[in-house]
Amino acid sequence: MKRALILGVSGQDGAYLSRFLLDKGYSVHGASRDAQVNPFTRLSALGIKEDVHLESLDITDLSSVLQALRRIKPDEIYNLASQSSVSLSFQQPVETFASIAVGTINVLEAIRFSDRPIKFYSAGSSECFGDTVVPADETSPFRPLSPYAAAKSAAAWVVSNYREAYDIFACTGMLFNHESPLRPARFVTKKIVSSACRIAAGSREKLSIGNLDVVRDWGWAPDYVDAMWRMLQQREPVSLVIASGHSYSLREFVAVAFEHAGLDWQEHVVVDPALFRPTDLAIGKANPARAAVEIGWTSQYAMPDVVRTMVEAERSGFGVEESSTEATIQ
Ligand code: NDP
Repeated sequence: MKRALILGVSGQDGAYLSRFLLDKGYSVHGASRDAQVNPFTRLSALGIKEDVHLESLDITDLSSVLQALRRIKPDEIYNLASQSSVSLSFQQPVETFASIAVGTINVLEAIRFSDRPIKFYSAGSSECFGDTVVPADETSPFRPLSPYAAAKSAAAWVVSNYREAYDIFACTGMLFNHESPLRPARFVTKKIVSSACRIAAGSREKLSIGNLDVVRDWGWAPDYVDAMWRMLQQREPVSLVIASGHSYSLREFVAVAFEHAGLDWQEHVVVDPALFRPTDLAIGKANPARAAVEIGWTSQYAMPDVVRTMVEAERSGFGVEESSTEATIQ
């Protein structure tokens, strides 16, 4: 039985990856900064909380990572743990950089000092590419536009350096936005869907939103964890762009969500300039062709399917209860 360690198991991707690996027969160990207090609501929503071995681990603390690797002896490590909001990274740049860049080095150092051939997946981000009028692929340069993107860029370079310098099987998935009913409430996609459903059910609220002109490639999160796993099953490590290959504006996202809830979005949405960022990525476009060739992965859904599925899940009550103060795009 293969043993996987998922860092950041309490988040959206951690929950779906846990389910995916359990279905494949893995023994799944999942880490949170404090497993004693974390309610692991996403694992509960998927009905798998009791099947995951839950651990406390802080990736910014090397000794914490070293101890966990010695105890768990994983075959594969998936690092999904980080401050994951672009907006919040402008308010908490040091915390963001530490969790992403220092955290990634710590895991790689712990692998280097272990005597086992551990395979490592690192959660990269499309934000590294900055604006991509020409769809981004694996050869595109990094032009980070936020502390989050700068940290993810540093982490991606560290991964490729450790791969070359120490022959570690380490990959970065350059993932574009991926959504699901398990997205935390602070993300704009979840905020749009929840608001549309509440208004359709009779709420008189208005949805306040930032820049509707931004363009993103939105995919389906449960699909994307399959790509993470496939990257670690190859003979040679490879870093890949993972995306649907279809981009839409946030205005189109809003329109689909409200239309599926039976509403005209223009009657319920107000643009709030306070929600604009100091610098923002205007266009995110991807060319995921290499993933199809290298790991046989293509996205099964594009934005309209993703939004409709999220609206239906919200209506049926599937998901997690959270409060949201500010909406952000990943
Ligand atoms: P989530 O925000 O849902 O989960 C991330 C987890 O990381 C949290 O559950 C939390 O676990 C842990 N975490 C949060 N802040 C810190 C911190 N300061 N230090 C250490 N750990 C922290 O993210 P997703 O599941 O959506 O994403 C997984 C990874 O993929 C992240 O690194 C994200 O940046 C990246 N990514 C996501 C994309 C998306 O569209 N979803 C796109 C591209 C990249 P706990 O509180 O239990 O410790």
